[in-house]
Amino acid sequence: LEIDTLIHADWVIPGEPLGAVMARHSLAIADGRILEVLPTPEAREKYRAPHTHQLDRHLLIPGLVNTHTHAAMALLRGLADDLPLMTWLHDHIWPAEQRWVSEEFVHDGTQLAMAEMLRSGTTCFNDMYFFPDVAGRAVAAAGMRATIGLIVVDFPTPWAENADEYLHRGLEVHDQFRNHALVRTAFAPHAPYSVSDEPLERTRTLADELDIPIHIHVHETRDEIMLSLQHHGVRPLERLRKLDMVSPSLVAVHLTHLEEDEIQVLAEAGAHGVHCPESNLKLTSGLCQVDLLGRAGVNMALGTDGPASNNDLNLIGEMRTAAMLGKLVADDPSALPAAQVLSMATLNGARALGIDERIGSLKAGKEADVVAVHMGEIETQPVYDPLSHLVYATGRHQVRHVWVSGRQLLRDRQLTTLDTESILAHAQEWGPRIRAHASAGGP
Ligand SMILES: [Zn+2]
Repeated sequence: LEIDTLIHADWVIPGEPLGAVMARHSLAIADGRILEVLPTPEAREKYRAPHTHQLDRHLLIPGLVNTHTHAAMALLRGLADDLPLMTWLHDHIWPAEQRWVSEEFVHDGTQLAMAEMLRSGTTCFNDMYFFPDVAGRAVAAAGMRATIGLIVVDFPTPWAENADEYLHRGLEVHDQFRNHALVRTAFAPHAPYSVSDEPLERTRTLADELDIPIHIHVHETRDEIMLSLQHHGVRPLERLRKLDMVSPSLVAVHLTHLEEDEIQVLAEAGAHGVHCPESNLKLTSGLCQVDLLGRAGVNMALGTDGPASNNDLNLIGEMRTAAMLGKLVADDPSALPAAQVLSMATLNGARALGIDERIGSLKAGKEADVVAVHMGEIETQPVYDPLSHLVYATGRHQVRHVWVSGRQLLRDRQLTTLDTESILAHAQEWGPRIRAHASAGGP
């Protein structure tokens, strides 16, 4: 049978069933979809493909899903570090954004972020940033997959002046990408402390109508909880519950400082959570009870958060951090085993974004978002269990090839649709401009 692509690998971790590792298996891909996952000798008999890859000592995994980021902030990476969230935001990030955020900034920053993500095995990301139209077009041009956040905040930014304009422009962006194969949208009200009740309610109504997720930071810090108690008399999650926002369309990012009954509320509503361990650690925001949330039945995905608070977009590293921090928080070394953490970084993310029928595991019928990781390097020898190595020992430099919907976007670590030289040149122009302004005490 003549098909498009055939990939033979030493190991395949399909993601479903959980924890399965298949030795010497192959992926047969046609029209962007996985036709079959089968033993290599059978694949050789059954299929012929113009693109045939013999990947010895490689591991195939589903494309990683970064379920929370602010991609364009790659251009602000390392601008301000070692600060608590509110100081970092108010004194550094928001002033820099007021000064610099533009179509050009978002285009260049999103490209820089996508290049980094593809080179670390991420094929899909859930973004929240200004000029989502520009980000969406950059994603489409690169052939990557993303859910682009239609951002809403109470204050004016270069993207919009007020809630009306944020929602109006958001709806226009939604229309631009309606039925796009790779780019989807979600409403993205920034956080309970930065969006008032009225725009939150409108967001919820519109999200229901369009059947898209609501992507929002919730319970990031203790300060946020204190502020909510002062201004609204209830904790942030309770406020969202009263606004009827805690539902299967809620993608709640961070979820630190939760109480037991709040975990139950999320579980019973079928809401999704996104854990961003490195951002939580770096900003010392607080701990997320990932193990308890998972046991209660909350679908927990994984994100890096923006590259200015992490400071990378490396989901391979984020998996290791999530596993280790999760064990410490649960006080249990058996909590968050490698298989569960990989699921957080793949299928659970797809589920949160409502696209788990299409991506998130290597299964016949799904779109072929696939990553080949080279296990033959010094750092991962010998190989007893490739799943263990993937989470506990692999570096992102071992990501060798990446496909999105059957199209190869990374070949031998070289990007095929993004221009590395131009991305570097733009980043190197932005850096000195932004730094000069910041040290002059902008905005
Ligand atoms: Zn964030």
